[in-house]
Amino acid sequence: MNPTNEFELLGRDRQELTDLAQKVGQPGYRGQQLFEGLYRQRVASPDQISNLPQEFRKTLEEQGFRIGLPRIEKKFISRDSTIRYLIAFADGQSVETVWMPEGDEGERGDGSEAGVQSGWDRATICLSSQVGCAVDCQFCMTALLGVKRNLSAGEMVGQIVAVLNDREVSPPRDRVNLVFMGMGEPFLNYDNFIKAVRLLVEGVGIPESRMTVSTAGIVPRIADFGREPVRPKLAVSLNASNDEIRTRLMPINKKWNLEKLMTAAREFPLRPRERLTFEYVLLDEVNDSQPHAREVVDLLRGIRSKVNLIALNPGPGIDFRTPAEQRVLEFQKVLVGAGIPTFIRRPRGRDIYAACGQLKRTTELVQFSA
Ligand code: SAH
Repeated sequence: MNPTNEFELLGRDRQELTDLAQKVGQPGYRGQQLFEGLYRQRVASPDQISNLPQEFRKTLEEQGFRIGLPRIEKKFISRDSTIRYLIAFADGQSVETVWMPEGDEGERGDGSEAGVQSGWDRATICLSSQVGCAVDCQFCMTALLGVKRNLSAGEMVGQIVAVLNDREVSPPRDRVNLVFMGMGEPFLNYDNFIKAVRLLVEGVGIPESRMTVSTAGIVPRIADFGREPVRPKLAVSLNASNDEIRTRLMPINKKWNLEKLMTAAREFPLRPRERLTFEYVLLDEVNDSQPHAREVVDLLRGIRSKVNLIALNPGPGIDFRTPAEQRVLEFQKVLVGAGIPTFIRRPRGRDIYAACGQLKRTTELVQFSA
């Protein structure tokens, strides 16, 4: 399922690069220099790592090693400045990665938005963890693709490296947030996801406090994730207020129902001041009434949480409607009234199929009413 190429350097950690250097007769510290070249300088080929001796660079090339940077196949630019990248890997498979200048509010809630400086503010990159998705949520267009394969850690980091290079942005100097909310279910590709997180923190220089991962509710992995020494913030796609509706919208609820999910959420070890985020896609007259909102309040009791409401981003093949703004505001009011910080996520890039739930590798842009 997972073609790890033995000649691709991107995706290797410090230890693996140290081992590689030693294997070809170089001192171990050359591994660290390779690490910096790959993730901090973000070079396109080994011979660009200028602090490596000429002879080592030559050996790497001669032995067939390459960076393994994915290729930007297409770029769609929205009228709201969001950019959707179609990014292709060596085997021809592709995923989507979304650049959102100023974010979409999904990354808010940790206080990090306080004290914004002038000039460069912040951007959020939304990356994919699998080609397609197996979870089959009825309102999500990625589900229509099915799952093709997992991405390797290098392919996840590669999306970020490719987009940062294209935008000419460099963390930690420039403030970049990451959300693992693109195609795929990160917790069904857990080990590669965690390895990517570490490379992004230690290598690329994006602090874990600026990263959020979203899961459809793979309960055993929520517990594992809570034990990780280095971890992003957690968001759970709740999307329904009771089992009947959730099972209809998200078949995965048959395996891990709300009781199991909310128990895992309640036991999740939050850091000081951290909140667990719940995402809730509002579908007109399906899960968006005030009684539904009150059920959500009951579900979240006792959890230090916040809620991101997302009005459905529509698209072909999706049999639900977007609620009117008034309904969204009324839903929000019930939650806020119960003391739950609740934000309405701004749709970003709907006109180019870049918004939540719209990633399905669309290459022809047709108009539809949104
Ligand atoms: N598989 C993970 C990561 C994807 S995150 C997860 O399910 O959490 C994508 C977010 O977009 C999820 O919260 C999902 O519920 C939401 N979403 C999916 N389809 C959508 C749509 N059509 N409109 C709005 N939000 C959608």
